[in-house]
Amino acid sequence: MLNCRKAAELMSQGLDRKLGTLQRIGLRLHLLMCSGCRNFDKQMNFLRDSCRKFPQQDS
Ligand SMILES: [Zn+2]
Repeated sequence: MLNCRKAAELMSQGLDRKLGTLQRIGLRLHLLMCSGCRNFDKQMNFLRDSCRKFPQQDS
């Protein structure tokens, strides 16, 4: 089972590239049980979406 540190690692990796199936499942399970990491995941997604909505360069 993942600990919080490993879960956070996977979440940040998942922003850049796809995780393997086992990694995704492990992370899912951890997020189900751990509200702290759920909040962290929300924040990461929020940041990622913000970056997409407001790109640094105007093309
Ligand atoms: Zn956790």
